[in-house]
Amino acid sequence: MTNVKPQIPRVVPQREASPCDRLFAGRLPGIRVYGKSQDGEPVPFRRIDLAPTPAAFGGGRQPAIFLADVTGPFGEGDGTGSPRRRTRPAPGSPTQYEAAKAGVITPEMSFVAERENLRRDALIEELAAIGNPKAKALYERSAKAKRFTPEDVRALVAAREAVIPLNFRHPEAEPMAIGRAFATKVNANIGTSSISKDWHEEIGKLREALFCGADTVMDLSTGAHIVETREALLRSSPVPVGTVPIYEALERAGKPEDLTWEHFRDVMEAQAKQGVDYMTIHAGVLRDHVALTKDRLTGIVSRGGGLLAAWMHAKREENFLYLHFDEILEIARRYDVTLSLGDGLRSGSVHDGCDKAQFAELKTLGELNRRAAEAGVQVMIEGPGHIVLPKVELNQQLEDEWCSRAPFYTLGPLVTDMGAGYDHITAAIGGALIGAAGTAMLCYVTPKEHLGLPDAADVREGMAAFRIAAHAADLARGIPGADLRDLAMSSARFEFRWNDQFALSVDPARAAAFHDETLSGSGAREAHFCSMCGPQFCPMKLARDLFD
Ligand code: SF4
Repeated sequence: MTNVKPQIPRVVPQREASPCDRLFAGRLPGIRVYGKSQDGEPVPFRRIDLAPTPAAFGGGRQPAIFLADVTGPFGEGDGTGSPRRRTRPAPGSPTQYEAAKAGVITPEMSFVAERENLRRDALIEELAAIGNPKAKALYERSAKAKRFTPEDVRALVAAREAVIPLNFRHPEAEPMAIGRAFATKVNANIGTSSISKDWHEEIGKLREALFCGADTVMDLSTGAHIVETREALLRSSPVPVGTVPIYEALERAGKPEDLTWEHFRDVMEAQAKQGVDYMTIHAGVLRDHVALTKDRLTGIVSRGGGLLAAWMHAKREENFLYLHFDEILEIARRYDVTLSLGDGLRSGSVHDGCDKAQFAELKTLGELNRRAAEAGVQVMIEGPGHIVLPKVELNQQLEDEWCSRAPFYTLGPLVTDMGAGYDHITAAIGGALIGAAGTAMLCYVTPKEHLGLPDAADVREGMAAFRIAAHAADLARGIPGADLRDLAMSSARFEFRWNDQFALSVDPARAAAFHDETLSGSGAREAHFCSMCGPQFCPMKLARDLFD
């Protein structure tokens, strides 16, 4: 496999630009600026410069708001440049967890602290400089809320409450942390299937996911060109890349019953060598657990879980990933691959949610997490599935208890089964709720869930839904500085600063397009109303007039 010469597309597939895309330079508002980590490393942000308050509302300059910028080379120039390559230690060096435990602050920990703080130091300086007492009163408390130090990041990694998924062989990726103390992260699944027409499209999906703020991407490719697709994604991606190695192991074996530990080991080793940052490993699906799914309405819905259940049934043997877990840990440790302990028995319907099978696996994942700690390997725990609203929080509570507060990484959960075509919404509802309870990363779901392979437009929809869910969770958990964007948005809304509203929204081009669709023309973006209620009945205008 390592002999394959990857063909990395030189030209990034671009969607046809709409007028709004052009306005926002390909949907990214603001401009790229860099902060500096404690080690002097540049950390990218997007600076959103806001318009002053209109004179009719008292005037006054507004400070800039900073957002994390995960777009790497895609968000710079014409988007076809190469990612900056960071210096990385050689394989076999101490993992982030081992370094943290030894009291060492790595460059990655410093980078993470700078990114999580969202340049609030610059905001405080600007608030002092612009002399706008109203803006100072509005932003100062959040701007001055707790700031992370590199030592805080180290302590959380050492406590196994945060991970920094970054393979020693992935110099293109920028460091980021997944943990409940930090902003909730969102993963976007991309990748080919056996019926994909052109694997180069995956680079377009990567770009789309990054433009919408994906913190990691998982390459779930199956079918032909798995290796080339992964190589292209790894060498292009400024965010950590995850995989599910058993998919490729199955491609090699041909059919589940021919799969062997050796197939898996070779694939895992090769993917680790290639630079994959985290891997889903379904080592907690045990034979006894599978028996507990017998009376389920929807059986086993995880691809990896179903595959291993079929293998165990055919072989009458225990899950080889569980039996060989120590060897898995050895490979993961060598490259600092974070293990994402997979929820192979997650529920596929609300009827099956929180059943014995799901929880038996979760308990086993807790045991595997403890073994990984002894081996110096970073771990996340994957979670449900389809779960009714009142039981969503329980999943986080049990994960805390059984898995020692390791970062929880959940798919949704989807809170109803009837949302086909809109499952990004059913899943974002559960995602916001479980994120509020402490989940560290949400795996997005697209409108195509249960129906087909998502395309770039579906990626955009799924990402928008999950960025909103993650942000709602940040507000609920009181993540320092998370509310700055909301304060800025609401202030812009009440002062009818339309362009600021667009720039601060989750999808600026869409917000601008929707506004202009029904109220366009030269004055529309200065108007003190929109087409929703019209000039006579705009309640915000009326509310303002009360005190003018
Ligand atoms: S017209 Fe209605 S929807 Fe539009 S800005 Fe005023 S209150 Fe908001």
